[in-house]
Amino acid sequence: MTTSGNPVDFDAAVAALTAARSVTILCHVQPDADTVGSGLALALVLHRRGVPVWVSFDEPADLPISMRSLPGVQHLVRPAEVPREVDLLVAVDCGSAGRLGALADRLAGATTTLVIDHHRSNTCFGMINVVDAGAESTTSLLARLFDAWGVPIDPEVAHCLYAGLVTDTGSFRWVRPGTHRLAERLLDTGIDGAEIARTLLDTHPFDWLPMLSRVLGSARLEPGARGGIGLAYAFVRRDDVAGVHSEEVESVIDIIRTTAEAGIAAVFKESRSVDGRWTVSLRSRDSGPGAQDGVDVAEVATALGGGGHRFAAGYTTHGRPEDVVAALLSELG
Ligand code: MN
Repeated sequence: MTTSGNPVDFDAAVAALTAARSVTILCHVQPDADTVGSGLALALVLHRRGVPVWVSFDEPADLPISMRSLPGVQHLVRPAEVPREVDLLVAVDCGSAGRLGALADRLAGATTTLVIDHHRSNTCFGMINVVDAGAESTTSLLARLFDAWGVPIDPEVAHCLYAGLVTDTGSFRWVRPGTHRLAERLLDTGIDGAEIARTLLDTHPFDWLPMLSRVLGSARLEPGARGGIGLAYAFVRRDDVAGVHSEEVESVIDIIRTTAEAGIAAVFKESRSVDGRWTVSLRSRDSGPGAQDGVDVAEVATALGGGGHRFAAGYTTHGRPEDVVAALLSELG
């Protein structure tokens, strides 16, 4: 067993990846393109080295349609097919073991566990942790790991890494020094950045439009929240999303968070199976009018049992709509 106190331990990660004779890679529940792109990029690299590799996530049952054209999807398996025992288990883009859902039970059967992630709230639940909250995406952290490992980035791997980069930066809106340098390097391999972005971000089924109409009609503004920073929120009720995929539901927060009068945005999404259960997306504005220093929504989400990034976080809660809103307002103060 290896343990590591250093949260960005590239050397230990490379040693574990080099030594592993079998690898399971786990993405978070309700996967996005950063977790899937990271998982598939790493799977492609390991597979080429002749290492048996399985990639999986607990929920939902199927990979969102927008991600089905990512290279390496042939390495995805159903949760039941994920081996109980493996040399190395890698969790990608997961801030805590809870983000693995039911697959968290596979941690115990792994000789070594490696966490690769960029969430501020990461609990460093791996024996080895490559965690950098300054990274714009887990795929960009993975690119640095590949460099440390001496692994070349070919077009298929670049496609997966770009998928996480373009989505987690909101189409290059939330960037830092080095973001565009990495994008340039990935595009230089010959991948079609426009097509990747269109597939992942700009393509929705027609049913998305009436769903938005219903959901946006529920939007409310609480200008007094958090000492006047303001909260804009909306409910996605079970009946609103019949026939609409979860990835379409995830797009709602990106509209709510554009509200000028609110520095904080929330979307309450009703569970499709459990009565009174809601998953809540939180965003805070990091610049511009009303931002002040920006509210740390990771802190708010963590206090409510979830986690995330400073400007994007989430949690799960239970109750009547008015009660879950009241609980959030009370936590915001
Ligand atoms: Mn991410």
